[in-house]
Amino acid sequence: METTLCIIKPDAVKNGFENEINQKITASGLEIIKSKKINLSEEIAKNFYNEHASKPFFSELVEFIISGEVIVQVLEGENAIKSYRALMGATNPEEAEEGTLRKLFAESLSRNAVHGSDSQESAAREIAIMSDLF
Ligand code: UDP
Ligand code: MG
Repeated sequence: METTLCIIKPDAVKNGFENEINQKITASGLEIIKSKKINLSEEIAKNFYNEHASKPFFSELVEFIISGEVIVQVLEGENAIKSYRALMGATNPEEAEEGTLRKLFAESLSRNAVHGSDSQESAAREIAIMSDLF
């Protein structure tokens, strides 16, 4: 069994997609073992997205993720990291396959509905950063 970190981002929460997204997550065979609706602090957001600190979109990324409520979740299942990344679809929703969460629910590249860890190392790091919230 593997765990991964999922965030339903402010665009998807505002648009009321929480239940539809979580139905698709559970239908894919993943279990939602922790879930919390919260406003992230700027400090946590900057730490969470540290790998992107030097990118031109970093400040926009941090401003967006703290702009409204998010739902932080831990998902568990076989190959949870890759399986959930596949369900999410490509980072840019214009490139996401039919039926993926980003194709169905994202507004744009910067407002793309969901986050998912991209490796075992990032999953462990991201779950640790968020563990105090649950
Ligand atoms: N992002 C952006 N502009 C870009 C690339 C990424 O606004 O040119 C945002 C996008 O919302 C993405 C997040 O930054 O989800 C983190 O980027 P990453 O490359 O890690 O994509 P992800 O792992 O979320 O698919
Ligand atoms: Mg990423």
